[in-house]
Amino acid sequence: MMTQLEQALAQAHRLCRTRGVRLTPQREAVLRLVLAADRPLSAYEILERMPATRRRPAPPTVYRALEFLLEQGLVHRIESLHAFVGCLHPEHPHNGQFLICTDCGKVDELCEAQIDQSLRKAVDASGFRTRRPVVELLGLCAKCQGARN
Ligand SMILES: [Zn+2]
Ligand SMILES: [Zn+2]
Repeated sequence: MMTQLEQALAQAHRLCRTRGVRLTPQREAVLRLVLAADRPLSAYEILERMPATRRRPAPPTVYRALEFLLEQGLVHRIESLHAFVGCLHPEHPHNGQFLICTDCGKVDELCEAQIDQSLRKAVDASGFRTRRPVVELLGLCAKCQGARN
């Protein structure tokens, strides 16, 4: 049985192969860290957790790997936290919506295509040009709500 992490990594490899791009060992190492974390990781935290085989990779290496993973939709950037989360359905490009728990820091992704669509329509109508469409909702996850009651 493959773990969820192994499945996500296998899927990432398949996707990259189909798209003709390379998931290099560095890029895979960054993706693995982001997917394995139980909350969003900042670029700095990723850098600190990178396996140091010979020596720790330089920050630009990690930034470039993150850029690649963002481009491929394998990770999302949580703007309000300056941190990254793995995407579990990267096969179709989407912006997604993020539920961010302000207590435990957990982030859940919603993937409501309808929200993306109606937001895009409304924005187009306003004449505004979106550089990075971000939908981030701050609040309490179900578990943390329980802990407060
Ligand atoms: Zn996603
Ligand atoms: Zn929580």
